[in-house]
Order: sequence, then C-alpha cells, then structure tokens
Amino acid sequence: STVAESIHEPVKPSISISLTKLLIDGKFVDAASGKRFPTIDPRTEEVIAHVAEGDEEDVNRAVKAACKAFDKGPWPKMTAYERSKILIRFADLIDEHSDEIATLESLDSGKPYEQSRNIEVPMVARLFRYYAGWADKIHGLTVPADGAYSVQTLHEPIGVAGQIIPWNFPLLMFAWKVGPALACGNTIVLKTAEQTPLSALLAGKLLHDAGLPEGVLNIVSGFGPTAGAAIASHMDIDKLAFTGSTEVGKIVSRAAAESNLKPVTLELGGKSPFIITEDSDIDQAVELSHFALFFNQGQCCCAGSRTYVHESIYDEFLEKAKARALKRVVGDPFQNGVEQGPQISDEQFHKIMGYIKKGQEEGAKLVTGGERFGRKGYYIKPTIFADVQDEMTILKEEIFGPVQSITKYKTIPEVIQRANASPYGLAAGVFTKNIDTANTLSRALRVGTVWVNCFDVFDAAIPFGGYKMSGHGREKGVYSLNNYLQVKAVVTSIKDPAW
Ligand code: ADP
Repeated sequence: STVAESIHEPVKPSISISLTKLLIDGKFVDAASGKRFPTIDPRTEEVIAHVAEGDEEDVNRAVKAACKAFDKGPWPKMTAYERSKILIRFADLIDEHSDEIATLESLDSGKPYEQSRNIEVPMVARLFRYYAGWADKIHGLTVPADGAYSVQTLHEPIGVAGQIIPWNFPLLMFAWKVGPALACGNTIVLKTAEQTPLSALLAGKLLHDAGLPEGVLNIVSGFGPTAGAAIASHMDIDKLAFTGSTEVGKIVSRAAAESNLKPVTLELGGKSPFIITEDSDIDQAVELSHFALFFNQGQCCCAGSRTYVHESIYDEFLEKAKARALKRVVGDPFQNGVEQGPQISDEQFHKIMGYIKKGQEEGAKLVTGGERFGRKGYYIKPTIFADVQDEMTILKEEIFGPVQSITKYKTIPEVIQRANASPYGLAAGVFTKNIDTANTLSRALRVGTVWVNCFDVFDAAIPFGGYKMSGHGREKGVYSLNNYLQVKAVVTSIKDPAW
C-alpha cells in the first residue's frame, strides 16, 4: 500500500455547486420549511454543500405538480416519438456534460472519478437511449375472445410514480427508475438518498433543458422517515419503486399497502455467492472474484460477498486473493489509477468495522486488512476473511463494504445447497470451464441474475432484480416497462358479425 499512501492526498476538483434546491414543477425551489441539510465529502468528512431538505409538505407540492402534468399537461398526450426525442436529447446532454456530472457524482459518493466518468455516466446516456427506443414501441394486443366481440388491450401509463433511490449508484439508479417511467408516459416524484443528492439535481436540470415539460419530473431531496415516508404513503401516487435495504423495503411496502395499495417494485439487499470450480484458472478466478466483491468499495447490493472455492484449489486461491487485495490501490477517488475510494459515510464506516470485529470474534481468519486506511475520510483497507463458516454473521448478513469472505466446499450439490441457504436471492457468480457445471448451477441457484465467467454486467437490455427477500419486479430491459404500465382491456360488441 505504499503506492496508495502516495496518492491519498485529497484533490480539489474544480466545480461549483449551483443546484441545491428541490426541483418542483420545473423550478428549483426552497423547502417549504426553509430547512437545509449538509451533504458530506466522504474523502475529507467536510461539508460539500447545504441542500434544501424536503419533507411531507414538499412531497405534497411535488405530487400536485406531477398530477397536473399527468392529467392536464402535455406529457401523456404527446406522441411517443416526441417523448422519445426528449430522452435522446437528454442522453446527448449527459454526454456533453459528462466531466461535470461525473465530478459531482464522485465528490458526493467517493467513488473513483474514472469509474464515474468512463463507466457510469456513459451508461446513464446508454440507458436513456435504450428507453427512448422503447417509447414508441409500446403497444397492446388484439385478443381473440369467445363471442362477437372485438377485444384490444391498451398499455397505458400508470400515472404518478414515486421513486426512492439509494446512495451507492446515485445516477444509475436515477436512470434505471426515471428512464422507463418517462418512456411509458408517467410523471414522477423522485427522492434521492440524503447522502448523495447532487448529481440527480443536475440530471433533472438537463432533462428540462432537453425539453421535458414542467411537473413531469419532480425531485425532492431529503430523508427517509420524512420525505420518503410521505411518498410511500401518498394517496395520489399511483406506483412506488424503491431501491434500498430489505428493512426499509418492508416499511415502504407496508405504507403503500396501508395507504392506497399502490403497486410496489423493490430492489433490496443481497448476499450473492461467487462459486469457483476445481477446473478454474486460478489467477482469473482471483481477479474476477476480487472485482465481484470490491467494486464500488464493496457497496453493491449484488456484491459477490460469499466466495465459495473448491477445496482442491483453496490454498493457492487464498494466497493469490490476499496478494491481489494488498495490491488494490486505495486513495483519493480523483487521483488516476485509484481503484477504491472511501465508504459513503461515517455510519457505514462504523457498520463495516463492526462486521470486521464480529468476523474475528466468531473465529473467521483475518487474512489481510481489517482496519482504517489513512487518517481522514471513511477509507477501509481491502479486507479478506478465510475459513468462514456458514453460521458466521459475516457469511449471512450484508456487509456493504470491502470485506471478502472466502469459504471452502467439496461438491457441487453441497455448494448449491449452501449458496441457496440465504434469505436473499439477488445474484450469483459462477466461475468454471465446465459447461455442464455452468448449466447445472445457473438453473439451480435461486437468484435473479447468474453471471457465468463474468460479473456486474449491467447492459441496459438485461433485466435485474431479486428472488426471495432481495425484492420483486425487474428493472432494465423490456421487463422494466411492466412496472410503469397499466393494461386496459377494451371489449366492443360486434353488432353484425360477418360470420
Ligand atoms: P441504505 O442502508 O443503503 O442507506 P436505506 O434503505 O436506508 O438503504 O435507504 C434507501 C433509500 O430509502 C434512501 O433514499 C432513504 O432515504 C430511503 N428511506 C429510508 N428510510 C425510509 C422510510 N422509512 N421510508 C421511506 N424511505 C426511506
């Protein structure tokens, strides 16, 4: 980590933060209460900016604007082609402003700038072009029914969508949610995570620059129990989409049910297995399983956080996994070549350190890391535990940090049983050269995504979502459109059937 130490000094990104208010009815406005909250730079633990803090009253204002835009406004009445063109124009604006938007994203979240600039921001543009492509290809069916009836289905927008997103991928989560909702002709009230409010406000402005009518997308920055709860329980919000913890997923589902029974899609926690078979190229397996866990500071709901290694290659794998973790470049996210920045917040930092302590107390073998990196900022050294047993907390609960838990297995039936013995079912990684094993595992694992000899492939067209307590519904791809459409059957009696 000597390389890393040398590039740990905070860089001052050149950016002025101009958008800090709520976006309601096409205008940036203060919170009704006048309150503001600080958003923190995870590299320095200092305040980046104070942002308007929305609560119930602001959500009410935003919902009113969204209802008006849906009922009276031009949005659902525009042709699908016109809506599509606005989404494409927005994608072009994202490309034009990619340096600025990536800087905001990394500053607010601590993720490496190269990752924001070269992967995530281009992916946001790609997602909006993908959904723009769908806007004018959404149509119903002509249905053959018994009797003299002409039957057709209309696929209509649901209305006002409430969307609550997390802090680990602020812009991508914005795109996964806003893209399909707009393509289908809905209007939106979106709440960003309180840790990362900044990039979505710029994205919201650019969408309006691209021609989005006022009131179609409203952004309320604020906290979960106030602004978030107001969205989940609002009587005039017709659909709720949530990404976050399983615990809060239950809270918002309950609120949705107890208010107006709005349908809910949930993308929640995970504890994804990454299974490495005996025939694997060990160097490649080490690299991919390292990426599967450590990507984005380990803050991925689908992180490959249970590394199952076949006993015949276990010792060599462990030695090489340790060497790779030691080589991981931790440092300021604005320095070139940095692979890992700080964790998002003081709270997450302490939660992760708590899991590391628990791992040691319960007898897992700490192979490397396990402590803070540097003196300032929420940095944690890449950490590996070996010989982790199924009943240990670190193999059961989501850590959401740079902590890899490695465990040994003997047979494929055994590893299937152990991998599936989790309340979560978001994703799995399989690393093998044996096509039969790949087929067996892909079908046996009870998860929403199986990545075979790859991981974290997030193409716009590939659906993503969970089995079990990882949630329900699918985002991205054609499947995401179902979340934002109503199906109306129109049945017309035929007076004089020709037959
Ligand atoms: P994480 O543990 O990743 O922060 P959370 O589930 O706490 O995940 O947060 C995800 C999103 O849910 C954030 O936007 C947060 O503000 C929001 N949230 C938290 N609590 C509630 C709540 N009680 N009602 C609605 N939204 C909430």
